[in-house]
Amino acid sequence: AAKAAGKNQVVVFTPALRTEHADRSRLLTELRHALPGEELVVHYQPVVDLRTRRVLSVEALVRWDGPRGRVMPDQFIPLAEETGLIVPLGEHVLRRATADARPWWDAHGVAVHVNVSARQVRRPEFVDVVRDALASTGLPGAALVLEITETALLATGKVESAVVTAHLAALRGLGVRVAIDDFGTGYSSLAYLQRLPVDIVKIDGAFTRFAARPGDESRRRRALATAIVELCATLDLVAVAEQIELETEARAVQSLGCPLGQGYLFGRPVPAAEIAPLLGRPADAVVRQRTRR
Ligand code: C2E
Ligand code: MG
Ligand code: MG
Ligand code: MG
Repeated sequence: AAKAAGKNQVVVFTPALRTEHADRSRLLTELRHALPGEELVVHYQPVVDLRTRRVLSVEALVRWDGPRGRVMPDQFIPLAEETGLIVPLGEHVLRRATADARPWWDAHGVAVHVNVSARQVRRPEFVDVVRDALASTGLPGAALVLEITETALLATGKVESAVVTAHLAALRGLGVRVAIDDFGTGYSSLAYLQRLPVDIVKIDGAFTRFAARPGDESRRRRALATAIVELCATLDLVAVAEQIELETEARAVQSLGCPLGQGYLFGRPVPAAEIAPLLGRPADAVVRQRTRR
């Protein structure tokens, strides 16, 4: 609340704030207990070729099944980032995901995406941690995509962002690909895309939703999305439209020239055991099958 109120405002310490604080420290204590990882469950969501609807890769998304029941990442990732817990948490997800993905890669050539925070990436041992996760699971670098948000990449200072860039570049040397996540929501100019060590651009869901709607605001967003997609093609970056929920949205982003997509239309995040049957055949066939039963 204090943060939301802005830097130049006096924040009165109300009982509500105190509750919020107590709540936060209880959550933090519980989250510490969740590590090394028993309560942290990794789900996977397909990323598909918009034309063939085949699953090309899956994104690892963490859930916390703890004393409060299931807690979604938006409820604890920010706290984990602030407190540094994101480092062991992120390493747990990386190890789990690379282990889970080995048979998917071997049987179907399906890669796994793992979200990483800038705080993790800028640590001196980050490259070794990733190299070790790959070596111990036998997963080749080409089977791993690291996702980092646009805001995380740019919010770090100049020196830190040089470190982040160097670490990502070193990992690309191992064949690991880098995706810039939630693109279009931050402040980056399109020119950034050329300078960052990035292979994949995930275009934020806001653009997906506007792509299929009428109106002036939609027209502006659609123009921007088109520019992003075209720039990606020019720079040899692969564009992924996020949060596609409707067939009309899939068609709209595809008609802008976007090659890949992700969203509930093609599959929600599900446990490892449930993602395996979706691999190796078009996602919409699976969606049809699932809605039938
Ligand atoms: P993200 O990396 O942008 O992941 C995509 C989010 O969009 C996921 O939310 C996913 O469930 C949701 N989503 C996918 N398709 C649709 C759709 O069609 N409609 C809508 N409305 N939403 C859709 P989720 O799983 O709640 O994760 C939220 C965020 O938490 C992620 O956004 C990511 O930034 C962060 N996160 C999740 N797991 C990790 C992790 O292991 N490490 C780190 N550092 N961050 C993580
Ligand atoms: Mg992501
Ligand atoms: Mg995203
Ligand atoms: Mg996001």
